[in-house]
Amino acid sequence: MVVTTEPRTDTPAAASDAPGDVAVKISGVYKWFGEFQVLSDVNLEVTRGERIVICGPSGSGKSTMIRCVNALEPFQRGSIVVDGVSVTDDLKRIDEVRREVGMVFQQFNLFPHLTVLQNCTLAPIHVRKMPRKEADEIAMRYLARVRIPEQANKYPAQLSGGQQQRVAIARALCMSPKIMMFDEPTSALDPEMVKEVLDTMVSLAETGMTMLCVTHEMGFARQVADRVVFMDAGQIVEINTPEEFFSHPQHERTKTFLGQIL
Ligand code: ADP
Ligand code: MG
Repeated sequence: MVVTTEPRTDTPAAASDAPGDVAVKISGVYKWFGEFQVLSDVNLEVTRGERIVICGPSGSGKSTMIRCVNALEPFQRGSIVVDGVSVTDDLKRIDEVRREVGMVFQQFNLFPHLTVLQNCTLAPIHVRKMPRKEADEIAMRYLARVRIPEQANKYPAQLSGGQQQRVAIARALCMSPKIMMFDEPTSALDPEMVKEVLDTMVSLAETGMTMLCVTHEMGFARQVADRVVFMDAGQIVEINTPEEFFSHPQHERTKTFLGQIL
């Protein structure tokens, strides 16, 4: 297989905040890890305020796709435009994109040597240059929103997994992102903690946040997703409303997948 490095020729659209505008546009994206093709002609347009759930078998490229959106992974062909800014190799542009996109990972990725509050204020103070007092106030507001303000001065290891993940969500929100991406946020949690994190995500969805969520929590998909994206072998196989996706899956591969997880 040949790895191409064609220059990207997309022209970024004008940035805008109106609902209905395009928040993320992924066009013809191909990616290889060495010889291994991990994404193949991926196309997805996400409208502002839309909630997208991405599912599919392990290894199908879900994480890689969303990591490309905030430039945690480079891609070799195609284009991605986030809030009017093209995701290119230009580091300044990458910083612009990352400032707009909050990311929550399976393993929480909190800084263990910082308190909950310090985890939440680190980027606002150092990246946004916000005065500490203001950063503290905003962080406490978001910690209240994820219902753990009383944990602010503890360290991550003193919290349960569900609490840590809610801190990770609050931390991302402290940067006032326009888009939130979640990569299997409940997969590392004990079953009794899944609901508290999903409830937090549902209430975030109710605020109108644009969300891209990789998850196999199909109840969540039914409850909040505007569209469900099914990936297999590096491709988007099917995109549909949750109703259609669950009741009339179009593709054989979707049917097989749903048969395994439902
Ligand atoms: P998913 O999130 O759907 O489980 P991933 O995007 O993590 O899938 O991975 C897609 C494929 O790419 C898998 O086959 C995985 O082994 C491979 N892969 C992921 N990251 C790397 C990497 N850094 N180097 C090489 N292969 C990778
Ligand atoms: Mg993954």
